Amino acid sequence: MASSPKTELHTLIIGAGTSGLLVAQGLKKAGLPFTIFEQETAQTYQTRPREWGMTLHWGSSHITSCLPPDIVARLPEAYADPGLSPDAVTGLPIHNGKTGELLMEMKAEKPCRVSRKKLRNLFAEGLDIQYGKELDVIRETDSGKVKVLFKDGTEVEGDVVVGCDGARSRVRDEIVGEEDAKLTTVPLTMLNFTAQFESEQALFIRSWNPLFVTSVHPDTGTMFWLSIQDVPDASRPETWTFQVLMSWVNNPLPASEDTYAGRLAFLKRRAEDWAEPWRSAGRWLRDDTKIPLDQGTYWEKAKKWDNRGGKMTLCGDAAHPMTPHRGQGLNNALQDASNFVAAVVEAASGARTLEEAVDAYDGEVLERGTLEMNISLKQTMFIHNWETLMQSPMVKMGMHQAKKEEAKEEKEKGKEKEESEDTKAGADEVAT
Ligand SMILES: Cc1cc2nc3c(=O)[nH]c(=O)nc-3n(C[C@H](O)[C@H](O)[C@H](O)COP(=O)(O)OP(=O)(O)OC[C@H]3O[C@@H](n4cnc5c(N)ncnc54)[C@H](O)[C@@H]3O)c2cc1C
Repeated sequence: MASSPKTELHTLIIGAGTSGLLVAQGLKKAGLPFTIFEQETAQTYQTRPREWGMTLHWGSSHITSCLPPDIVARLPEAYADPGLSPDAVTGLPIHNGKTGELLMEMKAEKPCRVSRKKLRNLFAEGLDIQYGKELDVIRETDSGKVKVLFKDGTEVEGDVVVGCDGARSRVRDEIVGEEDAKLTTVPLTMLNFTAQFESEQALFIRSWNPLFVTSVHPDTGTMFWLSIQDVPDASRPETWTFQVLMSWVNNPLPASEDTYAGRLAFLKRRAEDWAEPWRSAGRWLRDDTKIPLDQGTYWEKAKKWDNRGGKMTLCGDAAHPMTPHRGQGLNNALQDASNFVAAVVEAASGARTLEEAVDAYDGEVLERGTLEMNISLKQTMFIHNWETLMQSPMVKMGMHQAKKEEAKEEKEKGKEKEESEDTKAGADEVAT
């Protein structure tokens, strides 16, 4: 990276999630000025009700270019289980939920589960995050700069603003307009939450696989996922936290069951049809477990955005919100962050204008992001149907990064298959 930039370009980073923090670290490492803003307060940033684990695989290669060596060396601190070697698991096992039979193991590049919260806290090391700053509006100024206005009435000027503000990005609204920025909702119902168990129960669940174990039930096309989320004390399994995720498509929960108690009762009832360890995990969920309900979304209207001469762009989920069933969002966000930093470094060194550098960055992110949004959507639709499960992208491609040709092929086939599946969906809907 350039150590003596010719131009002082000040970057305004909106959002201190994984992508925003990695951009900040990369710019800091390159000696370029930036300010990072986060809507949460310093306190609520640490106490968010929703946290989950993520599989870090091919994206890890993009971390080292942005982080200083001392933080890279501490990456295991962000692992769900810091004591587990990254070589311990080679892929994601998928089972028949009814019989327990192992169907396949999805291959992945050194898959490790990272905690979203722990990764954020590690990437935040040494950064001066401006908390409590919720972006409201972005304006171009007469002097060729960009001005960001926050809901608290404050404002700040810079040379380029990068929206790292997640799937419901306000920056995306500002760049393309609220209508074109809208997300498309997928007919997915997802119960995604964390749970703790008694010591023996935790050991039992983890005995299948130290990281994760997932299954699809042939009768209902429902996916049931269990993974380790946090191991504060390896010798006391009762302190471990697990991520539990049950999802299905085309059959929303009836309003009468769409409450914390209703969702828990539904999950427990459905888990009775499962083999071990899913059946017991369902039975052992405590009565006070609060299960939120999530839908899947993606940016169907994604198209080349006007970056206003390189002054406004998007990164991470803001650029390509996707459904989670192929585990690609974080991995792509890391590549975006590293590419964006490289673009600003190029512009600051005078090798390219800011407009040229951000144009090139945008083009690549849009192409890669759109292809993966489509592949992940296909994965979500196919994995929840026993008949299409074995043709799902993950079975054919594993978890590796989609190659352009492969992705285009998947997209085309996906369209054809979805059309025929849509026709069938009405008849195939699972009973709740
Ligand atoms: C259940 C589930 C499982 C997943 N599993 C995987 C996986 O296995 N592998 C994988 O690669 N990916 C996975 N993902 C996707 C992954 O979580 C996301 O892609 C990743 O967290 C995106 O990071 P981000 O920094 O772009 O956005 P975020 O982490 O959402 O960060 C956005 C930040 O911006 C802030 N913000 C929002 N609006 C504003 C505003 N107006 N002003 C200021 N700040 C704002 C937010 O508070 C937040 O801190 C999963 C997602 C889900 C839901």
